[in-house]
Amino acid sequence: GEKAEKKEHGSYVLREMKVGQVQGMPIVVDVKTTVQDAVVTLFLENIGSLIVTDEAGKLAGVISRKDLLKVTLGNPNASAIPVSMVMTRQPNIVTITPEESVLEAARKMIHHQVDSLPVVSCPDHSSDQELNVVGRITKTTIIKLLLDKMGQE
Ligand code: ADP
Repeated sequence: GEKAEKKEHGSYVLREMKVGQVQGMPIVVDVKTTVQDAVVTLFLENIGSLIVTDEAGKLAGVISRKDLLKVTLGNPNASAIPVSMVMTRQPNIVTITPEESVLEAARKMIHHQVDSLPVVSCPDHSSDQELNVVGRITKTTIIKLLLDKMGQE
């Protein structure tokens, strides 16, 4: 009926669906991971960026293809340096929570010009700086979601 069609409409999907319903597994590396190993992981996992966590397992940063290209270009010794020296670091990471809408995730990615967001949860007892990584959402996640919903029409 008409109501069912509306539920599959793109704007409805983005507004009503929560990040937690569509998020993917986070691909996470430790701050001590080398640039070399980060590049290998990007290829093996077939993704564009990695989430970096500190010794306590909390969100420390994000390292992307461009970050890795920049540091390795014309610097033959770059492969041995740790990702912590190259990554975009907290508190500059744009994050989202599982309870927020997919629309909000899309807005954040476009506004901040990034391809993915770490999905985080903030433990009640801790400060805002200590974020657990619970997932990952990308522009691809959102395009796939819209295509899936169109297929149901
Ligand atoms: P790429 O570098 O492969 O084009 P992005 O567009 O996602 O990938 O990243 C662009 C820049 O933004 C990089 O320097 C990266 O470290 C940074 N970045 C990526 N994701 C985030 C995020 N969620 N929050 C803050 N910075 C990010």
